Order: sequence, then C-alpha cells, then structure tokens
Amino acid sequence: MADVKYVFVTGGVTSSLGKGIISASLAKLLQARGYSVTIQKLDPYINVDPGTLNPYEHGECYVTLDGAETDLDLGHYERFLNVPTSQANNVTTGRIYQSVINKERKGDYLGKTVQVIPHITDEIKRRIKLVGSCDKYDIVITEIGGTVGDIESLPYIESVRQLKWELGPQNCIVIHLTLVPYLSSTGESKTKPTQHSVKELLETGIQPDVLVLRTERHLNEDIKRKVALFCNVEENAVIESVDVSTIYEVPIKMLEQGLDRIIIKKMALPVNAEPPLVEWREFLTKLKNPKHSISVGIVGKYVELPDAYKSIAESFIHSGAMNECEINIEYIHSEEITEKNVKDKLNGLNGILVAPGFGSRGIDGKIFTARYARENNIPFFGICLGMQCAVIEFARNVLKLEGAHSTEINHKTKYPVIDLMEEQKSIIDKGGTMRLGGYRCIIDRNSKTYSAYQKDEIVERHRHRYEFNNKFYDEIKNHGMSPVGINPESGLVEIIEIPDHKWYIGVQFHPEYSSTVINPHPLFVSFVKACIG
Ligand code: GLN
Repeated sequence: MADVKYVFVTGGVTSSLGKGIISASLAKLLQARGYSVTIQKLDPYINVDPGTLNPYEHGECYVTLDGAETDLDLGHYERFLNVPTSQANNVTTGRIYQSVINKERKGDYLGKTVQVIPHITDEIKRRIKLVGSCDKYDIVITEIGGTVGDIESLPYIESVRQLKWELGPQNCIVIHLTLVPYLSSTGESKTKPTQHSVKELLETGIQPDVLVLRTERHLNEDIKRKVALFCNVEENAVIESVDVSTIYEVPIKMLEQGLDRIIIKKMALPVNAEPPLVEWREFLTKLKNPKHSISVGIVGKYVELPDAYKSIAESFIHSGAMNECEINIEYIHSEEITEKNVKDKLNGLNGILVAPGFGSRGIDGKIFTARYARENNIPFFGICLGMQCAVIEFARNVLKLEGAHSTEINHKTKYPVIDLMEEQKSIIDKGGTMRLGGYRCIIDRNSKTYSAYQKDEIVERHRHRYEFNNKFYDEIKNHGMSPVGINPESGLVEIIEIPDHKWYIGVQFHPEYSSTVINPHPLFVSFVKACIG
C-alpha cells in the first residue's frame, strides 16, 4: 500500500467544468502506459448516496456491479477505463458522518469530543486510502466534488493537505481545474479567476502541482506562462482543456500536451512508452465519419435535463460508432404523449427507447409509446420501467386485461402484471433498498437477445423494486410476448421480446450502465443495427 500513488483533482471558479472527464482521461492515459488505475469521487453533500436524489438535482444515478447507487461520474470512469467501479469508489459527506456517528455510538472514541478535525478528516483519509489498499492499483485518482472555497468541501481539501504532508509530495499530486473565460468585447482570455482560485487553494495549504485550464479558445504560450508564474507551477504543468465536440477526444488532447507524462514524472514513476491508443482512435474515427444516420426517440419524464439519461446517451455513442452510424437523439416528454397525438409525436423516428423511471407521472405516455412501436413494427427498446410499460400495454391491448397495471402506479389493479416481490413488501426505507447491482440471467437461445449477446448467461445491473408477475407468464407467452431471459436463482423474468416484431425487446435491468467505448453494449449495438434497417 505504501507504494500506491494518489492524484487529486479539485475544481475552481465554477462547477461543471468537467473534473470527471479530466480524471477519466488522465486515468485512461495512465492505464494505457501500463499502470493500473482506479478513480474515486468524493461528494460533499449530506445524502448518504445519490440513490434518493431526484434526477433533476444531480442527473442520473449510476449503479455499480456490487450494487452501489453512485454519482454519474462513475459512469464516465467505467466508460473510459473499461474496468468496473465499486461501492468504495463514491463517498459522500453523509456516508462519512454516518460512519463517524456510528463509531461514536459504539463508544469507539473513548469519551473524546468528536470533531471535524481530526475525526471527520481521519475518516475521509481512511476512505481515500481504502480503494488503494486492495493491492490492485498503482495509482488512485480522487475527484473532489464541488468547488474550492465551498464550505462543504473544506474537510476534503484539508484531508488532501494532510495526506500530501503524510505521504510526501511524490506520492500525492494535486491537479486543479479552472476556467479561463474569453471576453469577446475585448477579445481576451482572462486568467484572473484562475489566479484567485489558486490563491483560495493556497490559503488551505495546498499548492497545486498541475493546472488544467478549461477554455473555449486556444490559449497562447504567453497566457500559459503568465498563469504558471502567478500560480507558482511549472510552465509545462499548465495544460489547456479546450472545448471539443466529444468528451472522448479529451484523452487525446491531454496526451498531446503530456498531462500523463508530467504526472508520472512528478510521482517519480518510470515513463513507459507513449500509448498508441489504437482502439480508442479507431473509435473516434468511426464516430466522426459515420456512414449512416438515424433518429432515435428517448421517451422519458426527465427529458429537460439530458444528464438524467447520461448512460443511455453514451451507450448510443458507443454503439453508434461501432455501427458507423450517427445517432440523433430526440428527447420526448412522456407527459406530452397522449393516445391521440402519439403518432405525430413519434413520427419519423427509426427507433424508440422508453426510459427507466419511478412513479406515475408520464406513465400513460410511455404505455401509448410501447403500443405504437409494437403495432407499427418500429424497433423498440424498453429499459426497466420501459419494459414494465411494454408488458402493461401488451396485457391491456393483446390479452384484453382491462386496467392491467403495475402495482407501483395502481395498487388496486385487477391485473397486477408488474408487482412487488414478497421480500420488498415489508421495506419502508427508501435508501439503498431496491434490487440493486449485478444479477445473473439465462438467455433463451431461440431469441433476438441471444443473437445480440451470443451468450447463454449474462450478468446485468438492476435498480428497481417491481417485477414481471409470473402469475401472468403463460398467458403473456401464449399471446406472443416471450420471456427470453430468466434469473436462475429467483425465476424472475428479466427480458421479454416479441419474436414477430422487427426488434422489440424489454429488459428489467440497465444495460446502459455497462456500455463502454471499447465494449459497446450488445443490446444497444443490435438495436442500432435494427434501426438502420
Ligand atoms: N419504478 C420501477 C420499479 O421500481 C422501475 C424502476 C426503473 O426504471 N429503474 O420497479
């Protein structure tokens, strides 16, 4: 463990500068140079995890294979690195305080006054080192959420300062990401906010080793030199991060400026050969030179904030590139879809995806959408609630079970085709109590799903409470909707499809969480193929 190196990524000036993408890009480059790397995110809010957060607040909730509900940045880490993250990779202030308070209740502090320093900072440092302690990683990159100067981030910044002192400068590197705004009236890029932000960091006792400057326009050498001089960093350690058309280009931009090399040198590690990133560049070439173009509708209720469907949108980028196809995503509000206007709303789409979700808002629009896609032979992909809507629609309109529903929406329905599992019925707490994380599923060889996966058994990630109700299994199957993926332990239906349809698949799990640049998800690849036609 002594050998593990730590890199911290902090942010200044504003939020949303893309710390997650910079962290993931650096990790990608270090990985390509032969180092084993993981990334962790520290979030300064009091929620124990983002599982209970409305997607409007913080975007999508990402789920790891081991069943943690986490920040969406972990999705970027996995998509870039092609390595799964875990529970330990996302820590919030709520979780830190929860552990400290639990220890206090057990009497572990032996009568001491429990304080932010040292008890909270000790717990933060313990969590940071925990990911590195498994002997799997050479380098741990830790992204600190929020912006330097926020009250909430102070204990995290103080923990980084202490770690730098404890582990030594070669084992602890700080990258600070800031914004250099461009003033069009004077035609200048301004460095003052960066200078102030670094001063703020210096006040907490941290001298950043590397500065990454987010900018709309290229920064000339004079500007970089000025920033280096006033912020006390080496000239080659001032890196620009200029706006690019796709986040997947950022690693290449960072490689060109030697971000990885600077970090490796500062950590006194051997600078292995420059990574050629062959597969990555191939992906970018395909992404930028599509031979086909399709429009896919994502029907959901959080469409005002596309971050709510981040992993789905990224999965389309991966699978689009693999098919050399440009995918224009149209976000369609499910609340605006009615039985009357469904045709107009979905007109011209090559394929339709009904998104995951919770609660009754917009549910009818999703059910009308599923029917429209089925009756008009339009490729349809239902994810989680999307699959449940497909089953409800089929029960109502093909089986003629009037009022069939999910008991999540109507607990008195006569035909509960989607229902709560027995184990879920006694659960009252909302945090971390769904069916979460990876579950096995056996696929019927005689299905489109099998053609996509080319595998009998898969493991996919779940995040839901309600399930396909097996009381209706035979009736649904006999009418032409086939359950083609079954959980071998519980017998739960995880995948349904309509064999007579061009491409109509619903999955109870979330394939979007496991699509990466190097391994696009097989169901998305197959769906896009069907949409191309
Ligand atoms: N609300 C549904 C359930 O809990 C679906 C959840 C989802 O789409 N993630 O089962």
